[in-house]
Amino acid sequence: MLRWTLLRAANSDRMAGLARDSATVGRVVARYIAGETIDDGLAVATALAAEGMDLTIDHVGELVDSVEHAELAADVYRRLLADVQARSLPAGVSVKPTQLGLHIDHEGCARLIEDLAERATAAGVHLTLDMEDHTVTETTVRLVEQVRAAGAANVGCALQSYLHRTPEDVRRLTRLGVSIRLCKGAYAEPAHLAHQRPVEVARAYLDDARYLLREGTEPRFATHDHRLIAAIKREAAVIGRDRGTYEFQMLYGVRPQMQRALVADGYRLRIYLPFGTQWYPYFTRRIAERPANLLFFLRSLAPRRGRDRDALPAPTASKPSW
Ligand SMILES: Cc1cc2nc3c(=O)[nH]c(=O)nc-3n(C[C@H](O)[C@H](O)[C@H](O)COP(=O)(O)OP(=O)(O)OC[C@H]3O[C@@H](n4cnc5c(N)ncnc54)[C@H](O)[C@@H]3O)c2cc1C
Repeated sequence: MLRWTLLRAANSDRMAGLARDSATVGRVVARYIAGETIDDGLAVATALAAEGMDLTIDHVGELVDSVEHAELAADVYRRLLADVQARSLPAGVSVKPTQLGLHIDHEGCARLIEDLAERATAAGVHLTLDMEDHTVTETTVRLVEQVRAAGAANVGCALQSYLHRTPEDVRRLTRLGVSIRLCKGAYAEPAHLAHQRPVEVARAYLDDARYLLREGTEPRFATHDHRLIAAIKREAAVIGRDRGTYEFQMLYGVRPQMQRALVADGYRLRIYLPFGTQWYPYFTRRIAERPANLLFFLRSLAPRRGRDRDALPAPTASKPSW
């Protein structure tokens, strides 16, 4: 229930304002967000690459309210693609269609995605469309089909195992040779569309992962769930799938020790690295994923009374406090 409330709060402007004004939240944000500017993001990306990790860089933002804002977001991605290529970083980019205006101008959004896909293909940089809530699932899958049909070969798509429709989408995109990022799903979705119990979501994830290990093009397993990671490694070994042909993905700031252990064991690992000023919805979903974070988050938004809530210790990127 608390998780659902928090996920709804991810779309609240009032809560976003409160969070931005809280110094405590600001310090915790640094655990999940690489900074505000492209240069901040690239600096962290360079450091992680030196540790043997690949990246997919995300300019945080979603649900823009004007075509102008969608164009501005696309400009940041254009610069990012050029910078990644110029620095030869082992990095792709991740884009949310609603950040490019999907909700307000479908055709305009499709044009921006086609343009970014062309540029990404020319630069040899992989571009993944993040998957947002169920209202845009079908449109997002179609956008991927569209840009693939137009010749942009290195565009992939995230799919969410909690949705009942996902096994079909996995097969639909696999038939086109699309590289799929498989995740559990981060939004509050109703029971007629999505599995609700964690054990059902994990079971669905493993079924999709097994299919992708057998049939998928460069499958990307985005999870911090150590049981799923162990099961995927085992399954890959049993069917003889080479470690170089699939990868694990994790979020910046989440389970960093597990991240390093995977790299040390010779597995491919890509870190999802967000930067930018519009971090509130992304950050709120991260908080909702970990029950221990919830109370702390809500208390840090409450007005101070008699004690300095902002005096909590500041976590750092290298040594998280939770
Ligand atoms: C690279 C990547 C890309 C993603 N892209 C999308 C996308 O496009 N669309 C989408 O809907 N979702 C996306 N997600 C989010 C995903 O759907 C899940 O919400 C999220 O990854 C948590 O699920 P889990 O598989 O890690 O398992 P969980 O069971 O949630 O987590 C396993 C363990 O990992 C740790 N953990 C997990 N999350 C956190 C956290 N935020 N803070 C601290 N510890 C944590 C905890 O110890 C937890 O017990 C992405 C996730 C990753 C890793």
